[in-house]
Amino acid sequence: MSEDCIFCQIVAGEIPSRTVYETDDVLAFLDANPLAPGHTLVIPKAHHEHVQDMPNDLASDVFAAMQRLVDPIESAVDADGSTVAFNNGEAAGQEVPHTHGHVVPRFEDDGSRPIHSIFGERPDLDDDELDDIAATIADGAE
Ligand code: AMP
Ligand code: ZN
Repeated sequence: MSEDCIFCQIVAGEIPSRTVYETDDVLAFLDANPLAPGHTLVIPKAHHEHVQDMPNDLASDVFAAMQRLVDPIESAVDADGSTVAFNNGEAAGQEVPHTHGHVVPRFEDDGSRPIHSIFGERPDLDDDELDDIAATIADGAE
């Protein structure tokens, strides 16, 4: 547990939450300031700041919980779809430094936009640059 972490405090029961799902390793609860009715956060109980900091098994457990919750969340609020996403790192808008997945119900006429809309102008990358980037990522993933 990280002492100053609000989500660790939720896991420890020191701060209340509207818990919707729990396993030994994962907790899911309603977002306190929801972007839509049913907006749910899914976290590892152990403190890890970023997605990539979690051990592989734990990352799988978090994603499995998110996947399991999508139908119940959408049904609970009669949603037509959902945005399933992580803000990963401060530069990406992560405010709580304990990794958490968002499941945000979406509705046909909700006026909200796809994840693409958070980005501005697209970078102009030529084929060589794309090849280099792909090769570098592939090396790093080995
Ligand atoms: P992010 O910007 O991805 O770090 O999102 C943090 C989310 O945590 C926001 O959507 C907040 O509304 C939510 N949040 C912050 N404090 C609490 C809390 N005590 N209980 C539930 N959700 C919270
Ligand atoms: Zn934490």
